[in-house]
Amino acid sequence: MGKGFNGVMVKAGGGRDYHLTVTSSEYVTDKYIRLGFAGGGLLADHPVHPTQWIRLWIPDEHSDKLHHRGYTLIDQDPAGDRFSIEFALHGGPACRWAERAAVGDPLDATVLGSNFALPETTPAEYVVFGDTASLPAINTLLDAIGDTPARVWLEWQYESDRQLPVRNKPHHQVTWLQRVNDGRLLCETAQEMTCPDDTFAWVACDSHTTRSIVKSLRNTHGLPKAAVKYQAYWK
Ligand SMILES: Cc1cc2nc3c(=O)[nH]c(=O)nc-3n(C[C@H](O)[C@H](O)[C@H](O)COP(=O)(O)OP(=O)(O)OC[C@H]3O[C@@H](n4cnc5c(N)ncnc54)[C@H](O)[C@@H]3O)c2cc1C
Repeated sequence: MGKGFNGVMVKAGGGRDYHLTVTSSEYVTDKYIRLGFAGGGLLADHPVHPTQWIRLWIPDEHSDKLHHRGYTLIDQDPAGDRFSIEFALHGGPACRWAERAAVGDPLDATVLGSNFALPETTPAEYVVFGDTASLPAINTLLDAIGDTPARVWLEWQYESDRQLPVRNKPHHQVTWLQRVNDGRLLCETAQEMTCPDDTFAWVACDSHTTRSIVKSLRNTHGLPKAAVKYQAYWK
């Protein structure tokens, strides 16, 4: 099966390869599926950290091509070398593979580039912008930040999205906003909100929305570069 140009780049960057095996499959909602995996040694080599992600090589249904896609590890069990991945379903090749996947199915993965750590000095507050693709990462972030307050804005596309479990505690305020006009409501919120100096922002939406939010955080609210962690999760 062909990893193509992405495979060459990931190899050149020092990525380490693993063979995963599907161990379970369950629908969380009609538009969200959670698969369990045995990690093939992955967690022994790569310590768990919030928002930890890996690169999956998704088999194409119609050719020997492999699609290169980022996905987040959740509920990692390093002792058992097991974890889960949640797939927001929107009809792409990775989603279709996840819906077809059965216990025992193999899947190749590479680890390269996942290295987020919480800021050394605890911020006054976290502000978080995401959607159903970044919800698994946001849940690991909420688990990790403990007592620190957070405001979280999540974009929904399907009616059932707002039933997805968010691991917020009482001091983490969660607001769901519908996706309209390619992320307009999230972008407006980022522009119009108040943002104390000592804030840490974490942003992972589609590429256009991510860019717009980061611009507001830096230019309108004056957050320094080091206080904004962002990554586009999809195009
Ligand atoms: C670091 C990282 C971690 C990620 N973790 C997760 C995760 O844990 N769970 C998860 O579900 N996704 C996650 N993503 C996002 C996921 O990699 C993308 O959504 C990916 O494009 C899905 O691939 P696909 O083959 O299904 O669709 P693609 O072939 O990439 O796209 C097919 C079509 O679907 C659209 N599309 C793609 N993604 C979305 C989306 N999320 N919502 C609506 N439309 C979309 C595209 O615009 C395109 O029209 C992560 C991405 C990164 C970079």
